[in-house]
Amino acid sequence: MKKKYDVRGMGCAACSARVEKCVGALNGVQTVEVNLLANSMVVNFDEGTCSSQDIMDTVADAGYEASEADEEAHRPGAGEITKERTGEMRKRLIVSLVFCVPLFIVAMCQMAGILNLSDPVLLGIEAGLTAPIVAVNYKYYTVGFGMLVRRSPNMDSLIAVGSAAAVIMLYFESAGMILTLVTMGKFLEAIAKGRTTGAIEKLLELSPTEATVMRAGEELQIRVEELQIGDRVIVKPGERIPVDGIITGGSTTLDESALTGESLPVEKGPGEEVCSATSNLTGRIEFEATRVGEDTTLSQIIRLVDEAGASKAPIARMADKIAAVFVPVVMAIAILVAVVWLIAGFAPVRAIMVGVSVLVISCPCALGLATPVAIMVGTGLGAEHGILVKSAESLERASGIETVVLDKTGTITRGKPLVTDVLGIDLLLAAAIEKNSGHPLAKAIVAEALEMLESERSDERDEIPEVSDFEEYPGRGVRAKVEDEEFFAGNHAMMEEHGFGADFETGSSMASAGKTVVYFIRDGEYAGLVALRDGPKATSLEAVRELEGMGIDVVMLTGDNAETANAIKEKVGIDKVYAQVLPADKDKVISELQNDGDKVVAMVGDGINDAPAISRADIGIAIGSGSDIALDSADIVLVRDDLCDVGKTIRLSDRVMRTIKQNLFWALCYNVICIPIAAGVLYPFTGWLMSPELGAACMSLSSVCVVCNALRLKLQKL
Ligand code: ADP
Ligand code: MG
Repeated sequence: MKKKYDVRGMGCAACSARVEKCVGALNGVQTVEVNLLANSMVVNFDEGTCSSQDIMDTVADAGYEASEADEEAHRPGAGEITKERTGEMRKRLIVSLVFCVPLFIVAMCQMAGILNLSDPVLLGIEAGLTAPIVAVNYKYYTVGFGMLVRRSPNMDSLIAVGSAAAVIMLYFESAGMILTLVTMGKFLEAIAKGRTTGAIEKLLELSPTEATVMRAGEELQIRVEELQIGDRVIVKPGERIPVDGIITGGSTTLDESALTGESLPVEKGPGEEVCSATSNLTGRIEFEATRVGEDTTLSQIIRLVDEAGASKAPIARMADKIAAVFVPVVMAIAILVAVVWLIAGFAPVRAIMVGVSVLVISCPCALGLATPVAIMVGTGLGAEHGILVKSAESLERASGIETVVLDKTGTITRGKPLVTDVLGIDLLLAAAIEKNSGHPLAKAIVAEALEMLESERSDERDEIPEVSDFEEYPGRGVRAKVEDEEFFAGNHAMMEEHGFGADFETGSSMASAGKTVVYFIRDGEYAGLVALRDGPKATSLEAVRELEGMGIDVVMLTGDNAETANAIKEKVGIDKVYAQVLPADKDKVISELQNDGDKVVAMVGDGINDAPAISRADIGIAIGSGSDIALDSADIVLVRDDLCDVGKTIRLSDRVMRTIKQNLFWALCYNVICIPIAAGVLYPFTGWLMSPELGAACMSLSSVCVVCNALRLKLQKL
């Protein structure tokens, strides 16, 4: 069983590592993933051996607080907790500053000789000003010492020990400044973190709260939660679509940019799908609700973005490992440093203050935040462009893609073929044979027949005949009975398999022109053919060029025959084609490509018959309209029907990975350089010792830097 929890009280990477370790050690827990940034935890556990309560108790024993995340209220906890935190930090910061500024001025003036207070008076004033700062920041002590007692010190422990030591040594202004600066850092960090989760909040704002429905002939205003499947919903110009559905009356233009990132409005009329969160621009429409509540496109997108943002990228594990041992190691170093200086001849107070500097400058925070902030911003940025990444891991892997396999129909081409030629066979009969098939070719033939019927005068009574005994052969064609005659309709391969003769010459020349040919057989005899054309999407050529420009091999995979495939291949500039691959064999082609030179292969498909190949690929990408996002097999869903988004996805992944590496490098470097400086390595050469205040300022700055570096991603164009 998989459950999500909100976890409160975690301040740094040492905390999340500790929660992960404690819960992971429980009997019956298979996997646990704690996200510091999202304040969340996802646990896979066996209900037989361990209960949800056990898990929450374990977290409580570890010194934190866990509650089951409310899945129903699809408002993610991350944003709420971050806001709470920002508010609390603001309060603490204001109080700290009010007392810290005079404290600093008094200390400086005394040092500069402007003030000439006697020692007891000075200390009295300083103690009086420091006390409120300590009081308002008491949490560093309760949490920090609490964790120390539990023998799992975290970042708060460093601050608590450091500032307490300063107080004991009567370095009041150091203690006050350490606390104030750390709080300032945490406040800035909380604000910046809030920005990283903004994408979801933006999405949530898109869902309207009320909807107009037709019930018993009357227009009623109801709350969106009360909408049910089958309801007739009315949307006027300027309003947002509340749930997913199919237009039954009226036509309009819709702005779908909220879901797809595509700014051009789209025209929609009866029979076409509308999605929640898109906005109705021009006409009044009535539609039948087909997906409500948690199932709407918007809800699914929110869930995906939320889950992906809170999941853990493989690269984060290294940082987690370091963070878990970081604090104890730093404490050991601090003690060692103090002892060394004592032996070297420093006065005890001075030696201890050097140790304090080491404690307060060390920051596991930056290390812990390095990866999750970048993932959070990256998944949010993707969502704004209609790129839905399901997990941090897929976002990480996408940057390593070496081969991109593209399905032809619906991926490279529009997927909406049009009938171009009808030879020998009656179109209505052809439509009858195909009408029970859901294949795009079949739909196109039926649509053409219906259009013909509509355009004819009403006194003719023609209609599509009834069929019986229908059978579909995936990747080949269909068989059906019309009035006791047996028909086969399908491609060249199907004809050969059954040993039927047909006009392959005409068919071939049509195929070479890029058309797809369906041959018809009546009672074993050739009866005619229908040719259809399905042109490439407007941006397919550009998309292929771009991918090749990135040094990626582009391959086309299709069930259509080689001649048609070749014609399309020429048009969009792909080198390698696998044609006439049966749906069941598509995933084998993927394995072949993976094994050939150990390549990282991405499969892009419209998800209908490509699902096995999509799940076989290292990165499965589903492309298609926003409503099809329930594509379980894909790692990444491209909401817009535009192949250029494949390149965008890879670029997004590249940037996120670059940011993560910069962050990790910076966080590690910071500690590797700053800890020795705080320990006084420069003292023998320059006579300079870092003050604990400066250490606290550096520490705060380092985590703010990491978060801001990730936020920089937001400014980039994809
Ligand atoms: P793709 O990989 O291009 O999406 P499919 O595997 O769905 O193609 O189908 C491969 C081929 O099988 C089609 O190009 C067509 O020739 C034939 N075919 C499949 N279904 C039908 C059908 N219902 N009627 C006619 N031909 C069909
Ligand atoms: Mg297809």
